Amino acid sequence: MLGIMLEQRSGTAVGGAMQPWQAPWWRPVPGQELVFYYLVAVHVLAAIGLAFFQVPGLPVFLTALGLACLGGLGTTIAYHRALAHKSVRLHPRVEQALILCAIFNGSGSPRQWVANHRLHHAKSDTPEDISSPRYGGFWWAHLRWLYQFPDASQSRWCPDLDRRRYNVWGRLQVPAVALSLFGGLAFGWRGFFWIGAIRLLYSLHFQCLVNSLTHLGAAGDEGGDSSLNVWWLGPFQLTAWGENWHRNHHAEAGSARFGWSPLQTDIGWYVIRLLEILGLARDVRRPRTPSRVTQRGTWVVPP
Ligand SMILES: [Zn+2]
Ligand SMILES: [Zn+2]
Repeated sequence: MLGIMLEQRSGTAVGGAMQPWQAPWWRPVPGQELVFYYLVAVHVLAAIGLAFFQVPGLPVFLTALGLACLGGLGTTIAYHRALAHKSVRLHPRVEQALILCAIFNGSGSPRQWVANHRLHHAKSDTPEDISSPRYGGFWWAHLRWLYQFPDASQSRWCPDLDRRRYNVWGRLQVPAVALSLFGGLAFGWRGFFWIGAIRLLYSLHFQCLVNSLTHLGAAGDEGGDSSLNVWWLGPFQLTAWGENWHRNHHAEAGSARFGWSPLQTDIGWYVIRLLEILGLARDVRRPRTPSRVTQRGTWVVPP
């Protein structure tokens, strides 16, 4: 019995079928080759950039930081809270601006992001979960699923987003990412590396930590919840504002607020509140039972 459990945990066999995380890490599944080449390019360019330009200079640094912060807001507010979970309704122009920020940050098209994310919630901690570390391990959840798991079906997981204003971003994604990667050349080579690949690498890994690090809790039986609140991730996570309160989020996925106590900083929520006050966001859904989260962020299930 224990042997079977260990075998399943290590991902050598689930249901006797070949699992995607058993493939060599360097082999993308058909259709995801471009994602793999993008990841390789960003890592290689960032390494070259750091070798030649250890210090970015203030204008370049502030530009890169500003783009990363805006990208973080785009992903957590527009993609995650508004489009995937419908926990807030944004003014259409604000929504489009935030989608542009997210795409520029390398988060992919809104419909694909939402399809993958809804699948993650629906199948959390099962072999069908697109990004769980439970079977594939940390690196599977962190990066490998991006190019070794077929994208979730958009027609199945987000038919509600089959609208022109979202579909258009699927076509604009490649030129937007190209501009994001190369646009820093306007600041010279230092700008090319820091505003391009180094910024995108930072954004990539701190967003991917939501899939990997915040899902390393003890999940219990299959279908159990492995999500975690990781408080120390918050200050470093400029590209995923408030996403470090991931256990709160899985407990009440319909809430636009992820940080449930004054000590749980949630910049994404503060911006949503500001937008609500300004009349640029409405139908904001709040957590029903924030008092049930302890200071350590452990979700307490009532008896
Ligand atoms: Zn999750
Ligand atoms: Zn979610």
